[in-house]
Amino acid sequence: MVNLNTYAQNTWCPGCGNFSILTSIKLVLSSLVEEGLGLENIILVSGIGCHAKIVDYINANSFYSLHGRVVPAAEAIKIARPGTKVICFSGDGDSYGEGMEHLIFAAKRNIDITVIVHNNRVYGLTTGQYTPTSPLGYKGRSTPYGTKEHPVNPLELILASGASFLARGTSHGMEQLKNIFKEAVMHKGFSLVDVLQVCVTYYNMYEYYDKHIYELSGYNPQDYNQAFSKIREWDYNTEAPIALGVLYKKEMPSFESSFKQVKVDPLDRENKIKQVLKSFI
Ligand code: SF4
Ligand code: MG
Repeated sequence: MVNLNTYAQNTWCPGCGNFSILTSIKLVLSSLVEEGLGLENIILVSGIGCHAKIVDYINANSFYSLHGRVVPAAEAIKIARPGTKVICFSGDGDSYGEGMEHLIFAAKRNIDITVIVHNNRVYGLTTGQYTPTSPLGYKGRSTPYGTKEHPVNPLELILASGASFLARGTSHGMEQLKNIFKEAVMHKGFSLVDVLQVCVTYYNMYEYYDKHIYELSGYNPQDYNQAFSKIREWDYNTEAPIALGVLYKKEMPSFESSFKQVKVDPLDRENKIKQVLKSFI
């Protein structure tokens, strides 16, 4: 196994679901390197929140972005270096809140990046405020009488936006998480993995998830309508069962690969730039 450890001291709370995500992704990256992918061709990008510290704990190229901006940073990296595997880590408050529009457009254009969302349904780093996926009535620091909003179902929204790979895992199922991560990273196109990552300090949902989750089997992830029904089966506010596994997968051209077809004559490009500049004068 490739040693991806760093000297950074881990400051996550004991029992935090982030540990499963960290261990699983390290195993996946290690296996990819052993299979011949150079470590220099892996680029990790994080947002802001408890999840973001993950890049400090993995010895690989990484970029700490701004809150909600992990996706555009990753898209820019992928376009500049199309041969790399770009893997984003984000939180529910991070990418399902402030950064949601970026997710929608990344899914729409099917850019070949992987987004792993540590969806603990709470703002952990800022001590327990509600996020877009907190259930109705959630009581936290900013909502002592309970939230008055229904939560968003992010996978439903991102499937409708055109994503070509969607999956759901849990921080209580590392073997499955590892398999999903590897499939998502190897998928050619936009992939999103929603991980039900438990925040033991501000919103401990281990018991709830253990009662409701089940693994998909005999399921065809290429069936769009079936994926929609499966994703909508759990509406984030009920006692409905929660499906885990690859929910949707479709092969289609990725955004950055479409640029390879374009041959630009440098002289022609210069003339076009001059024309555009003249139009402003
Ligand atoms: Fe994990 Fe929650 Fe602690 Fe953050 S606050 S490290 S999400 S348990
Ligand atoms: Mg969160």
